[in-house]
Amino acid sequence: MTARVLVVDDILSNVKLLEAKLAAEYFEVSTAFSGLEALAKIEEHHPDIVLLDVMMPGMDGFEVCKRIKQNPKTAHLPVVMVTALDQPADRVAGLESGADDFLTKPVDDAALFARVRSLVRLKMMTDELRMREETGQSMGLLDPAQTLVDGSPTGRILVIEDRPESVAWFKAALTPQNEVVAVDSFEEALVCVRGNDPDLIVVSLGLRSFDGLRLCSQLRSLPEGRNVPILVLVSEGDRRKLTQALEMGVNDYLTRPVDRNELVARIRTQLRKKRYSDHLRQNMQLSIEMAITDQLTGLHNRRYMARHLDTLIANAEKSAKPLAFLIMDIDHFKSVNDTYGHDIGDEVLREFASRIAANVRGIDLACRYGGEEFVVVMPDTDVEFAAAVAERLRRSVEATPVPISRDPGRLNITISIGIAGSAGAGDSSEQLLHRADQALYRAKREGRNRVIAAAA
Ligand code: GH3
Ligand code: MG
Ligand code: MG
Repeated sequence: MTARVLVVDDILSNVKLLEAKLAAEYFEVSTAFSGLEALAKIEEHHPDIVLLDVMMPGMDGFEVCKRIKQNPKTAHLPVVMVTALDQPADRVAGLESGADDFLTKPVDDAALFARVRSLVRLKMMTDELRMREETGQSMGLLDPAQTLVDGSPTGRILVIEDRPESVAWFKAALTPQNEVVAVDSFEEALVCVRGNDPDLIVVSLGLRSFDGLRLCSQLRSLPEGRNVPILVLVSEGDRRKLTQALEMGVNDYLTRPVDRNELVARIRTQLRKKRYSDHLRQNMQLSIEMAITDQLTGLHNRRYMARHLDTLIANAEKSAKPLAFLIMDIDHFKSVNDTYGHDIGDEVLREFASRIAANVRGIDLACRYGGEEFVVVMPDTDVEFAAAVAERLRRSVEATPVPISRDPGRLNITISIGIAGSAGAGDSSEQLLHRADQALYRAKREGRNRVIAAAA
């Protein structure tokens, strides 16, 4: 992995040392010798991570970190404080200013590369999501104002620890702000992750009955566990386990004996990040749904249908299975609008759409094709069967008036349906659509309220 690293320190030899170590591992390094220079370099070079000295004349590292984290443009840039201060209180001060991690001087190589790699990996994931969110916003699908994230989140925390005194200590430290569940076996841990939807998992790497690292690796491979932050507890000096854990994608760690304030601060940081990435993921899901869904009826829209029709036709050809295409149009719909108004017209469209949805199978693709025209693509279906489905739908529309929110309370409507079947190799979506459209046209011309299938 390569990444751009900004090294900030007021002492030249410190900068040179880190620069040399990082460059030897093929990181792209830029440097700054003061807080102000660092902020300017960030604007200019867009680094992927900042290694920030704490004690600097003028603006100290805490203040620089605070400014990075307060600027919406740079808030997601990971900051590692590099410091000779190694008391829990110093770390808490750093976490409060928004730092993502700490390295103690003199910097140990293994710790340096493990931290840089894991933070950069996380940043790249969030960058991808942020980029999609920006696209969603620029397309007007998402509201930028909704991107604000809760500053001091709390959540459901799963603690995996088999020492009763330690479990009691965690519960005392983290409740009542958070909900804490503790388990002490591998199986129970997996059950809890699946069933309780935790916001964060604390795993002790010093368990007596099983290997905490194996559990972390398992959690990362579960769909339910993939996006949950994991914080591990390691014994002072257990570098090997820590490096392995970080390589597995564990988010953070604490060394025993655990300082209460540091624990609380680290958990808060992880929960805040989780809230943010959950939010990005949900928004992305939402913008995808909005981009492919017709807002009035909730059916797929024409764009989605057009995209998928080619694939469906190709699949049908490959598997030598039939495929049927239905196009439906409400008869004299214009007069509904003219007589009762556009809103009532919309009610009719919504009702009709839900009747279509209720009458097709899960594998059928139902879409609003435009105005009062709807399309259903039916894989693995021949024209005769599709005609039977269409006839059933036509009859039910004719037989059951549509309820409307204005006098006379219900409306009789009818529909016309054109059907075409895929004609094997060489058939295209345009030709299929054209044949179905011709059949619909005939249904209209021959008196409406009927189903016509195109000749094969
Ligand atoms: P035909 O039996 O030949 O299909 O006649 P028709 O009146 O249904 O056909 P035409 O295509 O002339 O009119 C369709 C009407 O559908 C015109 C348009 O105002 C209306 N329409 C299109 N989209 C919407 C919509 O989203 N809401 C409402 N209420 N009406 C719509
Ligand atoms: Mg019509
Ligand atoms: Mg029409």
